[in-house]
Amino acid sequence: MTVVGVVGAGIMGAGVAQNLAQSGHAVRLVDISADAVASALERIELNCRMSRMLGGPAVDAGEVLAAITAGTGLDLLADAEVVIENIPEDESLKHELYRRLDAVCQPGCVFVANTSAIPITRIGSWTGRPEQVVGVHFMNPVPMKPAVELIPGHHSSAQALATVRELLASMDKKPIDVNDSCGFISNRVSHVFMNEAAYLVYEGVATAEAVDEVFRSCFGHPMGPLETLDLIGVDTVLQSIEVLHEHFADSKYRPCPLLKQMVDAGLLGRKSGEGFYRHGPDSRGPADRAGRNGHLAAVRSGSEN
Ligand code: NAD
Repeated sequence: MTVVGVVGAGIMGAGVAQNLAQSGHAVRLVDISADAVASALERIELNCRMSRMLGGPAVDAGEVLAAITAGTGLDLLADAEVVIENIPEDESLKHELYRRLDAVCQPGCVFVANTSAIPITRIGSWTGRPEQVVGVHFMNPVPMKPAVELIPGHHSSAQALATVRELLASMDKKPIDVNDSCGFISNRVSHVFMNEAAYLVYEGVATAEAVDEVFRSCFGHPMGPLETLDLIGVDTVLQSIEVLHEHFADSKYRPCPLLKQMVDAGLLGRKSGEGFYRHGPDSRGPADRAGRNGHLAAVRSGSEN
């Protein structure tokens, strides 16, 4: 058993905490928002109860929750041997957090960055322990996904990598090795794909349903790019494509203005109840077009995802 800190209790942090607790580790789950912590624990309990139905193993929700100590103070991480960071894809937020983690965590603690795109060498440079910083790009939903991308930074030590490999093995995750580069493999490709799909809706070429239907029915993808965008979070995809755009200074990563407008309007996908689709109990109801105009009106809601 390893004592593992998980910082950020959003979509990814909750999934990582659940997976770690299911795998027999002691978890310290920290978020700046008490509401986010409470909602993460609720979602973890629900996901454990539904695990069998979703094709996963039988999971004892009580045991999983008992393995998680949750709160809003970083001091909870004082005894962690590994800390997995899952806060938003915003370099200034992450930079400030790593500075604070360096001060709070024990010297031997390994930092795992679950970032969508930020190079791990850059994250390591924000700490006084770059040799103990390793990138792991977990996939969503974490407990259901069998593989991760494993990214060493320029200074990551063999010992830190071995610690992370061992932890991943205990979580039943297959690591796929990737050299450090912005967006790694998955998001370098998938974010161009999702961003371009958003452009099709933005330009009025097709509805979100039609875009997704092409990839499901013609290419056999289990989910279309805009359904995936809603699952990941419109804000997270926008931030990640902005990181790619800034890093490569290449216009092929230019963020679709529709994504910016959706984030401004609070249409973040599943996590806010609406993105390209409506989610939740009223998802079958007609889309409310009141007050919408311009390109945002092109987002065709109303289908259950
Ligand atoms: P999210 O918005 O669902 O959750 C982020 C959480 O971090 C929020 O609960 C927020 O309150 C908390 N937070 C913000 N600042 C904090 C701080 N200083 N200290 C502690 N908590 C803080 O985001 P997410 O989708 O879980 O993404 C987290 C990270 O994982 C991002 O870097 C993202 O790019 C990456 N990622 C996301 C996905 C995905 O499918 N959503 C997949 C792989 C990787």
